[in-house]
Amino acid sequence: MKTIVAKFGGTSLADAGQFKKIKDIINSDPSRRFIVASAPGKRFDDDIKVTDMLISCFKKADNGTDFEAELKRIEKRFHDIISELKISFPLNEEFDVIRNHLKNEPDLEYTASRGEYLNSKILASYLGFTFVDPIWCICFNEDGVLDPVMTYRAIGASLHPLKNAVIAGFYGADSTGRIHTFSRGGSDVTGSLAAHAIHADLYENWTDVSGLMAADPRIIKNPKSVDFLSYRELRTLSYMGASVLHTDSVLSASEAGIPINIRNTNSPEDKGTMIVRKLPKGETKYPVVGVAGRKGMSVIQVEKVMVSDGAGFSAAILDILKRRELPFEQCLTGIDTVTLVIKTDLLRDCRDDLLDEIKKELNPDFIALKENISMIAVVGEKATESSNANIKVLDAISRADIEISTINQGAGKLNLLIGVPDDKYTDAIKAIYSTIETSSSDL
Ligand code: ASP
Repeated sequence: MKTIVAKFGGTSLADAGQFKKIKDIINSDPSRRFIVASAPGKRFDDDIKVTDMLISCFKKADNGTDFEAELKRIEKRFHDIISELKISFPLNEEFDVIRNHLKNEPDLEYTASRGEYLNSKILASYLGFTFVDPIWCICFNEDGVLDPVMTYRAIGASLHPLKNAVIAGFYGADSTGRIHTFSRGGSDVTGSLAAHAIHADLYENWTDVSGLMAADPRIIKNPKSVDFLSYRELRTLSYMGASVLHTDSVLSASEAGIPINIRNTNSPEDKGTMIVRKLPKGETKYPVVGVAGRKGMSVIQVEKVMVSDGAGFSAAILDILKRRELPFEQCLTGIDTVTLVIKTDLLRDCRDDLLDEIKKELNPDFIALKENISMIAVVGEKATESSNANIKVLDAISRADIEISTINQGAGKLNLLIGVPDDKYTDAIKAIYSTIETSSSDL
């Protein structure tokens, strides 16, 4: 029998109505054996996620203000779920434990993890599955860094004897039992680790959209959804801001070659987006599958005549960044220039010092820093194979009268990175998306 790890996000578990939907989804395919659950998310636009409520409770406890009213509101969210599902669950006892922690030893990660802990326990009881607490199988070291080898071994040992289970997402523990969480949205990572550890046939990620959109729906009305995507394409799009899966979640599934299927709990008949190592023939209809971007970049341009003759020039600049532990997004080299793209936030406290250091060490003919630049990634494994996909994209930007600050396209097939002024970001995305929309008719 096939084994599917199915992760359900916060909106899929926001209230009892959603619990009922996911029970139907799980029961409709017996291979959905291992379920990873998030904390209750938003039920409506202005609602507050339980994780955010828990964090606010911790902050109150930590600075000695009364957190009881906030804790009661959280308890009520779980109480409403339990009573509508008509299951018996020792909610009072569970909340007494949390309350005591908050009073006696408030700890941010422990508190933040309680949404997943309670929701998964409730879901396990509702489905009649075993509850697996990740403190036993998601292993962090003492510095709070995940130990993947221990984790795979421990998940394997926990899940193999079980027919079905619900595992709480988002957290694990170190060898002293102290709870650590992943960064926000981290239940996706738990799901991917579980899928890898038990060699699942498929990792389903159930959310509230029918797959990845080819562009940000806040900018493009009803963008196309993407049927197939490679792991590499997904990683680039999510790194560049497409928010469908936690960026770190792709790695474990892709290492094991497990396909990831993004599905919609509210529309389970939709096939969603399938993320795979190699795109199936005939399914890669468009050379460009998606566009995503990030604002708030700075571009540093360093010029020196005959840079290209002195092999050490770029290396010396990168060495300065390394010494300062300053990560960069891109480094482009030309005949007489080196251009660095760095997140502006990271330069806040060191911008002038950095420029001075480069001047002092390398004595450039010219050095300048431009802020408020957006980086846009145009992603598609076939984009550079297709004779004119890149030209069409650049042409669309130029027709929209947008000045291009940088263009970067390596020899790989994956993406074209384009820098434009922040205030032209939206127009640039629209211009680029228009080429994706029309490309289907060219093929
Ligand atoms: N509940 C956590 C968050 O809101 C983790 C998750 O949902 O994946 O970030």
